Amino acid sequence: MSFVRTLPIRVAPVSGEALDSWVEAIAHRTDTYLNDLLPALGFLPRHEGLSPARWDWSGMPTDLELESIASATGITAGQVHRMTLRPYDQRALVLNPHSRRVDQRLLWGRARGSRYCPVCLAESGGRWQVSWRLGWSFACLVHNRLLADDCPGCLRPQRMRPHSGYGIPIPGRCANTTRGSDKHPRCHHDLTSAPSLPFPAESPVIQAQHLLATCIDTGRADFGIYAADPQPARVALADIRALAARFLMVASRPADLMSDTCLTRDMPAEIVTRIPTQERTSRFPDRPGASAPPGAPSTAAAVLVALNILNQPAFAEAGQRMRTLVEAVSRVSPQAALTVSTWGADISPLLKSVHLAAALHRRPLSEQLRHRAVTSAPESHPPTRARRPNAPARSPLSPGRAGGYGQPPRKARSTRSCVRPCPRCS
Ligand SMILES: [Zn+2]
Ligand SMILES: [Zn+2]
Repeated sequence: MSFVRTLPIRVAPVSGEALDSWVEAIAHRTDTYLNDLLPALGFLPRHEGLSPARWDWSGMPTDLELESIASATGITAGQVHRMTLRPYDQRALVLNPHSRRVDQRLLWGRARGSRYCPVCLAESGGRWQVSWRLGWSFACLVHNRLLADDCPGCLRPQRMRPHSGYGIPIPGRCANTTRGSDKHPRCHHDLTSAPSLPFPAESPVIQAQHLLATCIDTGRADFGIYAADPQPARVALADIRALAARFLMVASRPADLMSDTCLTRDMPAEIVTRIPTQERTSRFPDRPGASAPPGAPSTAAAVLVALNILNQPAFAEAGQRMRTLVEAVSRVSPQAALTVSTWGADISPLLKSVHLAAALHRRPLSEQLRHRAVTSAPESHPPTRARRPNAPARSPLSPGRAGGYGQPPRKARSTRSCVRPCPRCS
C-alpha cells in the first residue's frame, strides 16, 4: 500500500532509461530539488553509514519504493523495476541485499559511475540508459560507437555519486562539481559534445557487445564452447572476466611485452592505441581487471581477447588460441599461467578444460591421450597407480571407453590444478 500522492506533472520514461535519469528529468520538468522530489516519490531518507551524498537510491529500490514511485508517477511497478539494476542481478552483476549496492568484486560490477553515448543523449534530450551502468557496456548498439567515459569539460567520469539534492538537474549536462565539493559550482558541460569512436556494424567491437547483450538479456550463454552445454550468463561472464583480467595483466606491463605477443593482432588499431597508459601504472599492478576496467577501450580490448578464445566451436581451437594468452601471462607470472584455479573461484569447468587443452600441447602424446585432449572437453586426471605387470593396457583409444577417441565426449567436470604435470609423466 502506497502513501504518496500522484505528481501533478508527469514525464514519461524513454525506453531503457535509468531510474535516476528519469527522476532527474521529472525534477528538471517540475523545477524541483531532488531533496523535495524523492520523498514525494516514496523514498525515505536512508543513511545506514553512508553519507546522504553517496546514497544510491536508484540501483536497488525496495518493492515498497517501486510501488510508491509507480503510484506517484502513473507507470507500473514493473516499468520502474526495469529502470533499476535489479533485473541484472545474478546475470551481469551481483547486488548485495544488505547494503543494496553492487558487489564490485564479482562480474565487473560497478558500484558507481556510468559510461554514456553522446549521440543517444543528444537524441533523447539527455536521458541515460540503465545498461550504461554495467561494467560490460563499452559500445552503443544503436549508433555503433564506443561509449564515452568522461566529461569533455572536467575530464572526470559521470555519475560517481547521486545528483545533489540541492540543485535542479539539467539533463545532458555534467553534474560534477568543479572542485569536488557540493558547495562548489557545477561543471555543466554539454555531454553531447563528447567525442566517441564510431565503428562499422560488422566490427568485432560491435559484434562483441552484441554477444554480451544477448547473453545478458537472455540470461544464458550458448555461444562457442558453451554451445553444446549452455551455461547461465553469470558463468560465461565470469569466464570472460577471468581471461580478460589476464590480458589486462599483460597489458599493464611494459609495452614491449604486448608487442611481442599477437594478442591484439586482429583488434582494431583504434582500440589498441586507446588502452590508457595510466592503467600501466596501476596501484594494483598484479590485479588489473579484477574489477571493472575504468575505460571503454580497455574493456573492449579485454573482452575481445576473451571472446577470441571462448567463442570457438571446439575446445581444441579454443585451447590453441588460449595458448598465446597463457604464454604471455607466463612471462609476467609463471604461477598464474600454470594454475587456472587462481584465475577466479567462479570460473567454469569448461574454461578449465580450455586451459588444459592450451597447456597440453607440449606434453608427450601419452599424456595428451590420458587427459583426452583429442576429445572436445579435456579433463584432468590424477596420476594413475602403477599397472599390474599382466594387466591389459587401457588406452583412451580402447573401444568402449567413454570419452575415448570416437566416443561421444563427456561433459567437463570440475578440475584441480589441471595443468601441473604429474610426476609420472615428467
Ligand atoms: Zn547511442
Ligand atoms: Zn564535467
